[in-house]
Amino acid sequence: MALGAAGFASSCAATRGFGDGLMRDIGRPDTRTRLPPVFVSEDRIIRIDVGLRPFRPSGFRVAREALGEKTLVHNYGHGGGGITLSWGTAKLAVDLGFNAEQPDCAVLGCGAVGLATARLLQERGARVRIYAKDLPPNTTSNVAGAQWWPASVFDRDRVTPAFIAQHFEAAQFAFRRYQSMVGDAYGISWETNYSLSNRAASSYPAAEDDPIRALVVNQHDLTPLEHNFPHPFVRRFDTMMIETPLYLRRMEVDVRNAGAEIVVREFADIAQVQALPERTIFNCTGLGAGRLFGDTEIMPVRGQLAILLPQPEVDYNTIAREGYMFGRRDGIVLGGTFERGEWSLEPDPAAIQRIMDGHRGIFSAMV
Ligand SMILES: Cc1cc2nc3c(=O)[nH]c(=O)nc-3n(C[C@H](O)[C@H](O)[C@H](O)COP(=O)(O)OP(=O)(O)OC[C@H]3O[C@@H](n4cnc5c(N)ncnc54)[C@H](O)[C@@H]3O)c2cc1C
Repeated sequence: MALGAAGFASSCAATRGFGDGLMRDIGRPDTRTRLPPVFVSEDRIIRIDVGLRPFRPSGFRVAREALGEKTLVHNYGHGGGGITLSWGTAKLAVDLGFNAEQPDCAVLGCGAVGLATARLLQERGARVRIYAKDLPPNTTSNVAGAQWWPASVFDRDRVTPAFIAQHFEAAQFAFRRYQSMVGDAYGISWETNYSLSNRAASSYPAAEDDPIRALVVNQHDLTPLEHNFPHPFVRRFDTMMIETPLYLRRMEVDVRNAGAEIVVREFADIAQVQALPERTIFNCTGLGAGRLFGDTEIMPVRGQLAILLPQPEVDYNTIAREGYMFGRRDGIVLGGTFERGEWSLEPDPAAIQRIMDGHRGIFSAMV
């Protein structure tokens, strides 16, 4: 495996004694042994969110095809990793389809994928018009957690080696691009994740032989003295977090400031797309691509979230069998349902109760 971000960090680490019987690794001086718990109670819920991940078992689709005289470039189907991968697949799509001699481009869709595609096109000199049925805050992208990690994007037994290479290329580009936006302006920050388990063997967040492992930062398995979770096996690693409401609002401002027009419009069929004045059209319609372009593989994977009042002291994430907790500044996100083929946007009270009870169990047992 190439020496990735994580490999470099651990190769630089050294240890020294602290006189308390513990050996601390000076490569991870931010290790806290007592984390503040989340207060999980029904009266702290500020909203319930339900969203449909646009999932394709064989992975996202970036492809170019002719549409009569026009060029159509698909960029959709990112499953549970579309915020993460948006800049990366936008780069693949723009490389594939942008022709500087025909700078007028249409982007269909105004979620994370459409907005990143529009920005990269503008950076290449394109004149962009975005067409979308829904704008932020009413997109699936607004619902996302959103941890920067390309997970739940494909079924391992359905992808080709070529796709795995493309997935890594997209993730690598996006990883760098998001780092250039860390800070309050875009609502992007680095946070520590704790993967909690009752079993020792775990390949989460990435197996040693997975190329994506190179993008895991600061991964360490903690000893019981190094954490206050009730689980015997705790692995920490760091990822960026994207506060989607703020990030998408800012992205929309960026594309408008760079000259894009945004047209609210729903397309009923391909003929309406083909009739657009632009010669090059980027399809970033997420789950909507299924009906619009006849993709029978794409399906919803429903996710339900309970959002609790913010707790500024909770600036970390947990991932466990019971679900995940993201300690965002705009609220504590409790989630963890992955319901294939489920189209309803109505919350299921029993699922929300399970998420609440599971997390209550974790945080009330913290010592
Ligand atoms: C609960 C949950 C948690 C998630 N957590 C994470 C996470 O932690 N990290 C992560 O990276 N990802 C996460 N995701 C996944 C992520 O939200 C999606 O992969 C991503 O939002 C897809 O972006 P998109 O721009 O393709 O789609 P969308 O945000 O759905 O945008 C599609 C756009 O196309 C438009 N459109 C669709 N059909 C038409 C039509 N016929 N005519 C006109 N316009 C149309 C829509 O109106 C919209 O503007 C999560 C998703 C959910 C539901």
